[in-house]
Amino acid sequence: MKMPKNKRIHCPKCQKHTPHKVSIYKKGKDRIMAHGKRRYNRKKAGYGSQPKPIQHNQAKVNKKTTPLYKCVECGHVQVGKAQRLKKFEILNK
Ligand SMILES: [Zn+2]
Repeated sequence: MKMPKNKRIHCPKCQKHTPHKVSIYKKGKDRIMAHGKRRYNRKKAGYGSQPKPIQHNQAKVNKKTTPLYKCVECGHVQVGKAQRLKKFEILNK
């Protein structure tokens, strides 16, 4: 899918159509001190095998791509509709 770098869409904060900058949502880094991660590390420590199954064969081929729209005027970021795409291009126009 080809997406323009700047798009004119409605901003709910400005309550009018304004130019928006398009970018792609990227997952943040996992926190090593999160409760689930600490619990998992405790479970994995010591002797014994992998306590939880690791999923290897995924049913889906493509990951979902989520576009982000940032309002140029107020900086409000809107999350777009996530889609399964092979390729997501932001055009330099
Ligand atoms: Zn705005």
